[in-house]
Formats: sequence, C-alpha cells, structure tokens
Amino acid sequence: MPELRTVATHCPYCALQCGTQLTRERRGTTVRPTDFPVNRGGLCQKGWTAPTLLDVPDRLRHPLVRRDGELVAVDWDTALRTVADGLRDTAAAHGPDAVGVFGGGGLTNEKAYLLGKFARLALGTSQVDYNGRFCMSSAAAAGNAAFGVDRGLPFPVTDLRGADVVLLAGANPAETMPPLMQHLRSAQLVVVDPRRTATAERAALHLQPAPGTDLALVLGLLHIAVVEGWTDGDYIAARTTGFQEAWQRATTWWPERVERVTGVPVAAQRRAVRMLAEARSAYVLTGRGAEQHSKGTDTVAGFINLALALGLPGRPGRGYGCLTGQGNGQGGREHGQKADQLPGYRSITDPAAREHVAGVWGVPPEALPGPGRSAYELLDALGTPDGPRALLVFGSNPVVSAPNAAHVTERLSTLDLLVVADFVPSETAQLADVVLPVTQWAEEDGTMTNLEGRVLRRRRLRVPPGHARSDLEVLHGLAVRLGQPGHRFPTGPREVFDELRRASAGGRADYAGISYERLDAGEALHWPCPDAAHPGTPRLFLDSFAHPDGRARFAPVEHREPAEVPQGVFPLTATTGRVLAQYQSGAQTRRVDELTAAASEAFVEIHPDTAVRAGLTDGALARVTSPRGSALARVRVVATMRTDTVFLPFHFPGAGRANLLTGDALDPRSRMPEFKVSAVRVEPAREE
Ligand code: SF4
Repeated sequence: MPELRTVATHCPYCALQCGTQLTRERRGTTVRPTDFPVNRGGLCQKGWTAPTLLDVPDRLRHPLVRRDGELVAVDWDTALRTVADGLRDTAAAHGPDAVGVFGGGGLTNEKAYLLGKFARLALGTSQVDYNGRFCMSSAAAAGNAAFGVDRGLPFPVTDLRGADVVLLAGANPAETMPPLMQHLRSAQLVVVDPRRTATAERAALHLQPAPGTDLALVLGLLHIAVVEGWTDGDYIAARTTGFQEAWQRATTWWPERVERVTGVPVAAQRRAVRMLAEARSAYVLTGRGAEQHSKGTDTVAGFINLALALGLPGRPGRGYGCLTGQGNGQGGREHGQKADQLPGYRSITDPAAREHVAGVWGVPPEALPGPGRSAYELLDALGTPDGPRALLVFGSNPVVSAPNAAHVTERLSTLDLLVVADFVPSETAQLADVVLPVTQWAEEDGTMTNLEGRVLRRRRLRVPPGHARSDLEVLHGLAVRLGQPGHRFPTGPREVFDELRRASAGGRADYAGISYERLDAGEALHWPCPDAAHPGTPRLFLDSFAHPDGRARFAPVEHREPAEVPQGVFPLTATTGRVLAQYQSGAQTRRVDELTAAASEAFVEIHPDTAVRAGLTDGALARVTSPRGSALARVRVVATMRTDTVFLPFHFPGAGRANLLTGDALDPRSRMPEFKVSAVRVEPAREE
C-alpha cells in the first residue's frame, strides 16, 4: 500500500478521541487538531506530542523469543510456531481453560472483536478478560441495571455546552481530558473529589469527602432532595420504578450524619442539591473516583438515583453519564473481549445471544465456552492448579496497572508461557517468553468508539517499522497454526468490522448500519445504528429507557465501609489517579521526552501537617507502605489535601508503582478492584 502524506484520524490516547490531522513530512510526522466536535481545535499535551510515540528509540521491530534467559530476535514463523506449540501443549495437558487471554481498552473495535473470537474459537477458553475491567466496569454495571443499556455518555459531549450546572463525581477532566473543559465553560461545576484537583480548582463548589465515602454522601444528597421537595415527582412516576425502595435506604442519611461520615459540611451538601435542582439544564457525570471501589457499582447507582430523582436522564439538556477513560474504553467493552460478554454487548449466558453469535461464526452454540474469570481474578489465578498456565496479553501492561502489583507480577512469573503483543517493551513484555511487535495507531486502519458511543475511523499514515505486524495478522497467524481455517480470522480491518456488524446486529450495541463507507463519507454515527438507512442515535432514552417496560430503575443501595480502613500502623488512606502528562501504565507516554519532562517520577501528595508528623519535607523521598508492600515516591506537600489522605499517580514503574499498595478487594457485581482506598503509612526513605 502506498504511504499517504496526510490523514484525518484521532489521538491514540484517551476516550475523548480528539480529531487530528497527521502529516508525514520529510523531517517526521506532525499533528494538528481538527474541528472535530469533541475537541474543536484543541488537544492536550499528550495529543500534541503523539507523533513522538511513533519513533521511540526502543520501538519493537522484531519478534523476540526467550532463550537461555534472554529475549532474542527471531522471524515471525519461529515466533508464531513457538506460541502456537506452547498453547496447544498447555491446552492438551491441562484443558482449554489453562490458556488465558488478557486484552486492552485501547485496542480498536476490530482487534477487540477478533481477540474475543480467537479466545473462544481458536483456543476454546473461557479465560478472557481485559484491562477495561479496571476502568469503568462499575459504571457499566450500574448503567445497565438502571437504564437497560450502558453507553458512557448517552448524549453528545457538545450537549454539555448548554448546561447550567454539572456535578462531576470523581472525575478530573481538566487534567485527564482537557479539551472537554471547553464544553463546560458556561456551567457551574460541583466537584466531588477528596483531592483539590485541577477541575476542583474551577468549581463553584468542591465537596471533599473522605475516600470511600462517596456513597454515604450521595445517599445524603438524595435525602436532602426528597426532604426539601426538590425531586421531580412527575418524572419519577412516569419514567422510573423503585423510587420508594431507594428512598428508604436514604432516609437515615440526614445531613449531619453525612457530615460526620464524609467530612462534607451540611451547608455544602444542601447547596449542591439546590444548584442541581434549580438549574434549567443539569448533568451528573461520574468518573473513576466514584467507580474504582469495592462498592463502585452501588456508588455509581447512588449518583444515578440522585439524577433520576431530579428528573435528569433521558431529557434534552439534562442527563447522567460516565466519562470513560481509555481510548476505546467504550468499544472495548462491547465486542466480546470481556469474560461475561459476546459481541453486541450481549451476555455470554443468554442462549439467544450465543446462538446468534455462533451462527455468525459458523459454529454450533455449544462450541462457545461460558463466562470466565474477571481481570483481577484471572491474573490472581495464573499458575495455580486450576488457573491458566499460559497467557496472551494484547495491549495491556498489568505489571504496572493491575492492583496488588507485586502479587500479579509474581503470578505472571509462574506461567509456563507468557506472550505479550505490544509496540514497546512494556514492563509486562520484559517478563515475557515471547514478544510480538505490533502496529500502533498511525500505522493501522480501524475504528474506535469514543465516550459518546460515536464510532470513529482510525486511519493509517505510514507502514510500521521493521517487522511489526497488525494484531489482526498476529491473531490470524496463530489461529491458522492452531488448526483454524484462515478465512475465519480475516486480517483486513474492514472485513473484520463487517463481520463485527453482523455479530452485533440486534444486540444492545448494534453496529449493523455503520460502515467504513458511511464513516469515510463524514457521517457521525453513534450506536445503536441497526441498518444502513438509520442515522445513528446521538441521544439515548429520550422516549424510553432500554428496559422492556421503558422505565429506568432506581437501585436500593446501602453505604458500607471500604475493604480496608486506616488504623494502627496504617493510619492514612492512599488514593490513586492520573496526571495530565501521562496515560495509563505510562508504557507509551513515559517514552515521550516532552511528557517525561513534565511528569518524570512517582510522587505522593500529602498535607503539610501530615508531612510534619511523618518527618517529611517537600521534595524528600518517601516510603509509602500498605499491608501489601511499599512504594517509593517524591513528596509533594499540598495544602489542599485532606490530612487523612495521600495521593499517588499510578503511571510509574518499578519501586514507584502505586499499585504495589492497592489490594485485591473487588466489587461483587462489576469485579472492579478497589484502587481508590488503601490503608498506608508514610515515612522518610533513604536516597539510593
Ligand atoms: Fe488525546 Fe485525550 Fe488529550 Fe484529546 S484529551 S488529545 S484524546 S489524550
């Protein structure tokens, strides 16, 4: 294929998927933002520096196989044969579930789809899940329960431009997706966050609850809304069910009790509800801060309850939404790389769904395995008697991004075979037995689905360097070597997408009417889009919700404590999160000099009083210790931090991994780990 000089595509990083134009010039590749609706000419620092990612010095160019402890370059046939032989031997000796697959929320729709199909058909394993489980699974579970379908934002981002008031619960878009902030310019912001984040700095009202108490807070906000008569009775009666049960759980959360539990003053609670209730146009948006808890699903459900009580979801100029994080966090959860799902956002235990997808794949429904382990449970089971003994990792770096990271790293090291497909030698790739070099964003065609459920075209600018191949080609090569007919695993993105459309037809996320032709013609297509004449669905729920009776469901939720509370030798709470210049595990952004210069090492934010008590000064090295282990981080003394809380970003490797501190408590419904609350102590560390 001849190389193009300029293409319209999208940023490789977060779920906003800002529109960009890439140009290949003699001296390298340049990027400029386009007037795409979500970014309207804006990009953040990560987007501006994305071309640097294409030519990082340690870009993987050859397949690597470990021999005598060293990763050595081999040809593709040797690498794929090594992997296929290892997978076949493992499955023959221990059964198909002895092989696991771990995917990623940054993979294109085509890759996510083919990876799920590969796991279920070529490997016959149920053990497939992906890192999106760590990202938005609580919001997905709560959204599906409340509305009958989960789409991050059930309305276009641009609708927020008309908002008077937006409540952001555990979301920090000023740092994680800055171009989004232009759409919030006219809104008064109510920010719920234990940290005074960049977004909280711009808020009209900042509620700063203790980590792990957001659910108590939002039960209290519902209490105030009801007692003050600020709920929308007509909407509740006409469009919802379950209000009484939800309200009963909130009755004892009177404002003074909420203040005692959360630390948020009564007046601030009352003001927040009044602002939302009196606004002509109001939205409630959740992010990872509300979701990454062992009660994340219930916490998000609490915010949805509040939004429903105020009559927001499914009405023009109002709504509830989740700000999805990863680039294809939305599409990644729709096409079947999740342990409990098949393409079309269908349940893998639904007989009709199994029959439909099996029909598209040309196999009997019995050929499809059942549900497997969720992401952390899969990693935790590696190398155990009934867990996977071989693992394929595509587009993920769990050594840094998984909770309880030392334990996960130890589990990975027990495998008979670890295979990592990536374009850089991530920390997980460095442990692998086989490393498969794959293409990255500007070297491939495909589609992504952004946080609004809008399907976007990723376009290829250049050929990949060295011997890197697309993930689709890798899956095809492995499938054929495992005895599958080659046509079952196409290598062309358009071909894969057309099959994905058929597999999704009639499902909750229906892509049947979305085609490369329509996208290339400039149509903005949000799913569901069931046929070629359908205009797509930018706004969901305007007439009815997706439950059979058309009504949204309140959820009767109870507050409970985090799995771990600060006490004794661990008197503080550590909470983890992101910074502007880094993305996810940092495997990509830590290789971009401009970004590393802006955020180069692990740090811990701590209140001045807490720092004094711990014997720490600004810039010193601290050891942060939880019951799992210790992380080293540079001290940042921050007056706006709560005195009982410290914050660490999770992008950094080695001894600075914030996830050395986080634990294995999971939300019972979404299986989301509790990234946001770990009991810790902080003390001075010796500089090496
Ligand atoms: Fe890329 Fe997200 Fe930044 Fe936009 S906001 S430039 S999509 S990282």
